Amino acid sequence: QRKFFVGGNWKLNGDKQSVDGIIKFLNDGPLDENTEVVVSPPAIYLDYVRGKLNNNVATSAQNCYKVAKGAFTGEIVSAAMAKDVGATWIILGHSERRHVFGECDELIGQKTKYVLEEGLGVIACIGEKLEERESNQTNEVVFRQTSAFAANISDWSKVVLAYEPVWAIGTGKVASPEQAQEVHASLRKWLADNVSAEVAQKTRIIYGGSVSAGNCKELGTKPDVDGFLVGGASLKPDFVQIINARK
Ligand code: 13P
Repeated sequence: QRKFFVGGNWKLNGDKQSVDGIIKFLNDGPLDENTEVVVSPPAIYLDYVRGKLNNNVATSAQNCYKVAKGAFTGEIVSAAMAKDVGATWIILGHSERRHVFGECDELIGQKTKYVLEEGLGVIACIGEKLEERESNQTNEVVFRQTSAFAANISDWSKVVLAYEPVWAIGTGKVASPEQAQEVHASLRKWLADNVSAEVAQKTRIIYGGSVSAGNCKELGTKPDVDGFLVGGASLKPDFVQIINARK
């Protein structure tokens, strides 16, 4: 039985006032105890959020550099620093890191290895672009991305796989429950064939891309959808409804 997992990726949004509002609705809940909840504020607010948020919600950085420290002027967070301020997860390979900032599978793999060495969890993001889906390359793309993560993962208990089709992120064009289920099932089979049957059975595969209070319940009924990674809706009280999607 895989524990339902819901992450809120705030991206580059918020100020102390709006962050206080998010903390309030999360602390007020009530949040389904059968859901593991993680929020990912901008790095500069990680410490502030951890200080005010109840312990039933974990914190995550949205990215990190591939080493703990050193002469890397302008880099904003390492996994060691995130851990120092109470974070327990790092999102890696998010579509915006790949396609806005040009991160490649190799760098994402190096980061994965480093984050796991620090003892933190990895929310490993993958997903195809619209033109890739339209040319029937979805499986090829998500398998290649997953394989780059897998090459750097020795302990899958610390990893959640987040399928986020690029065409669904921030567009309001959510994948249908059937589309999400189809890719999640293929990914689970990939894990069974390339890692192990046990890892395939135990690893949470979550969906991201225009998840809302309105569509989360139906997506959450699918057997291979083990939770969500939520962008825009995680900034609003609707996020509590998404956390409680299976209630
Ligand atoms: P939206 O929920 O805003 O589409 O963003 C999804 C996402 O990128 C979460 O990481």
